[in-house]
Amino acid sequence: MRAIVVGSGIAGLTAALRADELGHEVVLVAKGALGDGCTAAAQGGIAGAYGPGDSAELHASDTLRAGAGHGDPGAVEALTAGAAAAIDRLVALGTRFDRDAAGRIQRGLEAAHTLPRIAHAGGDATGAEISRALIAELRARPRIEVRTGEMLADLQVDDACSLDGPLPARVSGISLVSGETLEADAVVLATGGAGRLFARTTNPAGATGDGIAAALRVGARIADLEFVQFHPTVLAEGEPFLLTEALRGAGAVLIDADGRRFLADTHPDAELAPRDVVARAVAARAAETGAPVRLDATALGAEALAQRFPTVDRELRRRGIDWAREAVPVTPAEHYLMGGIETDSTGRSSLAGLFAVGETARSGVHGANRLASNSLLEGAVFGARAAEALASTAWSNGGWPVDAWPAETWAFDGSSGAYLEADPAGAPITAPLSGPAFSRTALQQLMWEHAGLLRSETGLTEAARVLDGWAADAAGTAPEPGDARAQEDANLLLLARATVAAARARTRSLGAHHRLDGGAEALRPAPEPIGAR
Ligand SMILES: Cc1cc2nc3c(=O)[nH]c(=O)nc-3n(C[C@H](O)[C@H](O)[C@H](O)COP(=O)(O)OP(=O)(O)OC[C@H]3O[C@@H](n4cnc5c(N)ncnc54)[C@H](O)[C@@H]3O)c2cc1C
Repeated sequence: MRAIVVGSGIAGLTAALRADELGHEVVLVAKGALGDGCTAAAQGGIAGAYGPGDSAELHASDTLRAGAGHGDPGAVEALTAGAAAAIDRLVALGTRFDRDAAGRIQRGLEAAHTLPRIAHAGGDATGAEISRALIAELRARPRIEVRTGEMLADLQVDDACSLDGPLPARVSGISLVSGETLEADAVVLATGGAGRLFARTTNPAGATGDGIAAALRVGARIADLEFVQFHPTVLAEGEPFLLTEALRGAGAVLIDADGRRFLADTHPDAELAPRDVVARAVAARAAETGAPVRLDATALGAEALAQRFPTVDRELRRRGIDWAREAVPVTPAEHYLMGGIETDSTGRSSLAGLFAVGETARSGVHGANRLASNSLLEGAVFGARAAEALASTAWSNGGWPVDAWPAETWAFDGSSGAYLEADPAGAPITAPLSGPAFSRTALQQLMWEHAGLLRSETGLTEAARVLDGWAADAAGTAPEPGDARAQEDANLLLLARATVAAARARTRSLGAHHRLDGGAEALRPAPEPIGAR
């Protein structure tokens, strides 16, 4: 079988390597250099219950709790039960995790984990080390055709796709921005997240949600776009730079303008409360005091900071900040998209022949809020699972278990930009065209202000009005072949509209989706303990 894998982060590389081992013909397409996505930037580590006293069940219940009960227990079970094997596999492929004197993999603690279970490498350079090892392995597999600097534009389908007509029988390949088309028996999208929707993000420049936008345009089911995770501790000065949560796990604290720790007033776990809670508290305290909150890691000492967090240490010192002596100003920034292309726990989407893995997928593992260090794990576990499912399921999506899931989903008409559930008539765009001219910066600022950390119907309505105006202006035009920037802009605009529609449709707060005007959504009853089944 010929499979195209799009993306060279942990999810795409894992899928490509595993598919190659299973004898498939693999083409790997990536829009930049290999490993230019989020994976190589990951600092904290990869979660996995492989230490004494820990278990996959405990990891699963932490994951479901952090996800505000919105996760899919079956997918979470696949994730946490697959963790030890996935980490062993990374080791076998050459990843050098940090080890203690006895040679055991060291385990760090991060927010909302009951126990220390985060494997890390190079101190805080986990993603870079995993990326290095997987790319080295890819280069040692001459059968895999690697096409870097090539950008996915759209998915090819057997039949014309229309929401009024039959859905396409099968995804049969991709088209590139260059205009070239590539045929395949299966396409695995591993195109990462969409942080560039927002003015402040930890994500690299290429995180423009291309795979999700392409899937939307052919009618694949998309879910949970309203659940966007904002990281609470991103350097507030200059280019956004992440200050890993592992720092708080190691004892760094957050202080306000008066030097007071304030998080214990908000949550019993204080600095180690779930990310959305910490992010909102940081934003609120900064707004109240008119000065940024600061991350104080001085108690850890210069030597420990340099040893355990060399990436952060190097970058802060490069910027002239001596964080061993002074607290560092921080702000929340977009970090991770929980929603995406809806898949089952083998990465199958609602369209035959189309798989999605990693951050671009909505596999159900993260629910309404991702547990720290579960996303590298998701890429490693589900990348392999998708490769293993290719042979049996690429030709049909029969038995796709959509109705068994608790997730709310909407059919999105990619051509008109309407969410059908939010807009049952699928009404054409009628928004007034007045408003600022489109630019990527204007879109990012609009999303940051109205669809960011704190949302309200008034703000979301304004965002929708402006976005609809831009969409109406762009209607009937398509990016020129070869114009990658224009294709990214079109993708961002489509995804912004879908995100705002999803955020408007969920009128109450849940997990990372926080409505100022709607109260909190009733949490679902705790799922049956996984170990009991
Ligand atoms: C600063 C930072 C720190 C993080 N720390 C952690 C951590 O400690 N632990 C953890 O679990 N998670 C962490 N995360 C999240 C985690 O890194 C990502 O969720 C994960 O790496 C995503 O992997 P991926 O393979 O899905 O996508 P990515 O690694 O983002 O790769 C996406 C790939 O798709 C390619 N691509 C995109 N669009 C196209 C297109 N149109 N055509 C062709 N190719 C395309 C890109 O070039 C890239 O190769 C962190 C994220 C950031 C930004």
